[in-house]
Amino acid sequence: MPLAPGATIGILGGGQLGRMLAMAAARLGYRTAVLEPDRHCPAAQVTGTHIAAAYDDPRALEQLAAASDVVTYEFENVPVGAARFLSEQVPLYPPPEALEAAQDRLSEKIFLNSTGISTAPFVSVDSDEDLVRGLAGFGGSGVLKTRRMGYDGKGQMVFRPERQKGVKGSFSRMGAVPLVLEGLVPFSREISVIAARGIDGAMIAYDPAENVHRDGILFRSTVPASVSPATTRAAHQAAFAILAALDYVGVIGVEFFVLEDGALLANEIAPRVHNSGHWTEAACTVSQFEQHIRAISGLPLGDTQRHSDCVMTNLLGASQDKAPELLRRSDVVLHLYGKVDARPDRKMGHFTKLFPLGAGAEGRNG
Ligand code: AMP
Repeated sequence: MPLAPGATIGILGGGQLGRMLAMAAARLGYRTAVLEPDRHCPAAQVTGTHIAAAYDDPRALEQLAAASDVVTYEFENVPVGAARFLSEQVPLYPPPEALEAAQDRLSEKIFLNSTGISTAPFVSVDSDEDLVRGLAGFGGSGVLKTRRMGYDGKGQMVFRPERQKGVKGSFSRMGAVPLVLEGLVPFSREISVIAARGIDGAMIAYDPAENVHRDGILFRSTVPASVSPATTRAAHQAAFAILAALDYVGVIGVEFFVLEDGALLANEIAPRVHNSGHWTEAACTVSQFEQHIRAISGLPLGDTQRHSDCVMTNLLGASQDKAPELLRRSDVVLHLYGKVDARPDRKMGHFTKLFPLGAGAEGRNG
C-alpha cells in the first residue's frame, strides 16, 4: 500500500538535498520531519517539523521515528548505528547496508568489484610503507584518499611519477587515518547515472550526465553526455546491478570514469539524490527528488524521459548574486537553497539551462 496523503516522511540531514526532498514530498501531499543539528539549515525553512539535535541522539531518533511513517536520509555519513536504530522502529530507505557500502571507500570498491563492476585498481594504506609499495605497483602515480568522510575531493593527494616528493610523511599529513590508494585513471570524461528502485523491485534510470569538477567540487553537468549508446547501457546496467545487490529502495547516484575506448570504471556510489541529478527537475517531468519520494512511499516510479537537453551549473559562494540576471532568461530554471552565508565554494544554488532535444554540443555552445 502506498503511503497515504498527509503521511510524514522523516529525513536525516537538512542541507539543500533534504530541502529539495521536503519540497518534492510536499508536492505529493506528504509532510516531512527533518533531523539536523543546525537550526538554520536549508531544509528547516520548508519542513513542518525540524528536530535540531545530533544524528546519534537517541531521544531525537525516537522523536523522529514516532513522527514518521517512513524515514530516509540526504547524506551518506549518517551514523550506521542511528540508521539501524531507526530501522527497527519504522521503515528506513535506502537500507543501512547501502550506507555501510558507501561510507568507506575501501568497502565500496570491494562491494563494486564483487558485483562485477570494475573500479580503479586500489590498495589499502595504513602507513608510509604501504604508500611506497602501492605507488610502486601503480607505476609511481595514484590518488591517495581517506577511506571515510571524504567528499568534494576533500582529503585527497595526487602522486605522479615526476612528483614523488612528500611521499614520506603523507600518512600523518592525511591525519594518520585509514587510507586507500587508487591508480590514477586516465579518463576521457566523467559521467554519473541517477537510478531508482521501488519497494516492488522496479528499476529506472535517467540518461547519464557528463560532469566537470573544479577543485574536486562538481561545477557543471551536461545532458546528454558525449558517450555512445553502448556506454549508456553499460552505466545503466551497472547502476541496476548495484540497486539489486543492495535490495535498495530509493534514488542512487553512481559516478563513473569513462576511458578512451568507452569502458567504464565506477568511482563512487552515493546512496541518495545527487548533485549531478539536479538537472532532472528542469528537463524531465519527474525530478530525482520526486522519484526518491515516490520510491520510498511505494508509489509508481516516474518516467525518466528528458523533454530537453540541458546544462546544470552550480552556484558557488558569491556567484548566487547572478540570480537576477539568470531570472531574466526564459531558457533557465534557477534554484536557490536559502543560504545566507556565501562562503567561497559553498553550494548556494544551481541553475539549469535548457536546449531543444538533440541540439548537440554546438547548439549548447551557441
Ligand atoms: P572523488 O571524491 O573520489 O569523487 O574524487 C573527486 C575527483 O577527483 C573525481 O571526480 C575525479 O575528477 C578525481 N579523481 C578521483 N579519483 C581519481 C582517480 N583514481 N584517477 C583520476 N582522477 C581521480
